[in-house]
Amino acid sequence: MTFRSVAIIGLGLLGGSVGLAVRECLPDVTTTGYDADRATRACAATRGLVGQVCDSAADAVREAELVIFCVPVGAMGSAAREVAGALPAGAVVSDVGSSKQTVARELAEALPGRTIIPAHPVAGTERSGPDAGFASLFQQRWCIITPPAGADPEQVRKLSTFWEALGAHVEMMDAAHHDLVLAVTSHLPHLIAYTIVGTASDLENVTQSEVIKYSAGGFRDFTRIAASDPTMWRDVFLSNKDAVLDMLQRFTEDLTALQRAIRVGDGEQLFEHFARTRAIRRSIIEQGQDDARPDFGRGDHSA
Ligand code: NAP
Repeated sequence: MTFRSVAIIGLGLLGGSVGLAVRECLPDVTTTGYDADRATRACAATRGLVGQVCDSAADAVREAELVIFCVPVGAMGSAAREVAGALPAGAVVSDVGSSKQTVARELAEALPGRTIIPAHPVAGTERSGPDAGFASLFQQRWCIITPPAGADPEQVRKLSTFWEALGAHVEMMDAAHHDLVLAVTSHLPHLIAYTIVGTASDLENVTQSEVIKYSAGGFRDFTRIAASDPTMWRDVFLSNKDAVLDMLQRFTEDLTALQRAIRVGDGEQLFEHFARTRAIRRSIIEQGQDDARPDFGRGDHSA
């Protein structure tokens, strides 16, 4: 048994995908939703992202057993304050934010005494907004739940069952460990992609049209990540600052080592390093977290 009614606050890529996935995978569960943006609410109603799109966050949560905040991490606290007066007594509050320690703290401050169980489905694309969501986003992807100390095991189990019903594999993790792991697997790669694409566009002796024309050399794959939502990623870096800076320090040291290997002509070091990283790619494919096809098997749904 999972929750019978779910309210989704924020109806962009993640909120829309949760809504569509619930409607498809848990058709008996009632869904309501709210987004701060009027045009997004209109689009959500047209696409049927949730059963009922409400005109306020309070209206959306009034009957909910589970409330999921799907807003940028910097907006979690203010979004939670909007529902404080309308939240039913036994409701479980969760979210999909990409960083967990800051979000957990902000939700707890905004909703003191409430049952808060943060989560992060590690699934997404570089697209955003109410047109971007799709029901299969969470299939075969991991959802990391970070229950705070003393969380009710029965409610944690219900949240876990909910995500499994949407097709996800669930893992429990401490929030601080989550932030460290995601800093290296997601946040740092985004920072690197944003940097490379910015560097290429600032070059004076290589033209923009050359960068685009010859992008299949590797640059193209970075541009997909660097096209991700600026609001979301600004908030992620500010909220997971310590872990990102820690990983960035290690990355800089490793980059310096490769820089030196190139300068001194140490081909052996370069070869060993590249052979090791190639094996990691193979493991990701073997574990079903990506596709070996040249377009990564993504079709229209780049993940
Ligand atoms: P999105 O497509 O931009 O959707 C977020 C929506 O929330 C926007 O429509 C936004 O409206 C709305 N919003 C902002 N403040 C609000 C408030 N106070 N009340 C109600 N609605 C509000 O972003 P997303 O990609 O779905 O990301 C949502 C969350 O999922 C973020 O916390 C992100 O870290 C997490 N996440 C994202 C991914 C990914 O790949 N994108 C993956 C996993 C987790 P406005 O546009 O008007 O601000």
